[in-house]
Amino acid sequence: MKLTFLGTGTSHGIPAIGCSCPVCTSSNPHNKRRRSSLYVESGDAHLVIDTPPDFRDQVLTFGVTRVDAVFITHIHADHIFGFDDLRRFCYMQKMVIPVYGSGATMDGMREKFRYVIDESIWRHSAPQVTFNDMSPRDRVQVGELEVQPVEVPHGPMTVYGYIIRHGAKKVGYVPDCSALESPVVEQFQAVDVMILDALREAPHPTHLCLPQAVDLLQQIGAPQSYITHVCHDLEHEETQARLPTGITVPYDGFQLTT
Ligand SMILES: [Zn+2]
Ligand SMILES: [Zn+2]
Ligand SMILES: [Zn+2]
Repeated sequence: MKLTFLGTGTSHGIPAIGCSCPVCTSSNPHNKRRRSSLYVESGDAHLVIDTPPDFRDQVLTFGVTRVDAVFITHIHADHIFGFDDLRRFCYMQKMVIPVYGSGATMDGMREKFRYVIDESIWRHSAPQVTFNDMSPRDRVQVGELEVQPVEVPHGPMTVYGYIIRHGAKKVGYVPDCSALESPVVEQFQAVDVMILDALREAPHPTHLCLPQAVDLLQQIGAPQSYITHVCHDLEHEETQARLPTGITVPYDGFQLTT
C-alpha cells in the first residue's frame, strides 16, 4: 500500500486567512497545510478518504489521476466541499464512482449535493457517483484493498475513521476525533500505520490535542505513527523535534509505503 497525505491541516488550513502568526507566515513549505485527506493506492486500487475544499489543488499538485472509490469520514465542510471535482475522474475513467460513509453522512451528502442525484435539477457536468450507506459491520472491497469503518466520537457527533487492509498490512486513519475509548484502541492495536487527529497543544472540545494523541498512539503501538488535522499552533519542525521516536508529523504530499 502506498499512502499520500493530500492534506494535513485543520478546517481553516494553514496559513489561516488573515493570520500573521509565525507558523502562518513561515517560509517552510512544511508549515503550509491543506485540509485533511488521504490517498491510498495498491495495484489497480486507488481510493481517497475525504474530498476537502482543496481537493482540486491537492490532486493536481500530488499527481492523482485515478480514484476508484471515495470514503467520507463525516460531513463537516473541511472534509467534503471539494466533492464536485470528482467529475473529472468520472469523465476520465468513464465510470460511476462509489462513495461510502455512515448512513448519517450519506444522508448529509444527498442533501448537500442534491444536484448529483436529483434528475429534476441534474446538471450534465455533475459527478456520476453513488452514495452507499456503510454500517460499522460492513467491509468494502476496492480491488485488493479492504476498507472497514470504525465509529469514533467527534465532540457531540459520531463519525468514521477507517482501517484499510491489504493482505496482512493494515492502516488506521482517524482525522477528526475527540477521544478513543479502550475497545476502539484495541481495534487499532494491530495496525502497521496509525494516523490520528492532533489539533494543537491545548485541549479542544471536538478534537484530540497533541498530548492526548501521543498517549493514544503509544497505547496503539503501531510501528509507524503519524498525526494530522494540525492547526497553526504547531510549528512543523519544533513539533517533530519534541515528539517521541516513532511518531511523525507529516506534511502535505508526504508519502509512505507499507
Ligand atoms: Zn475536520
Ligand atoms: Zn496563524
Ligand atoms: Zn470535523
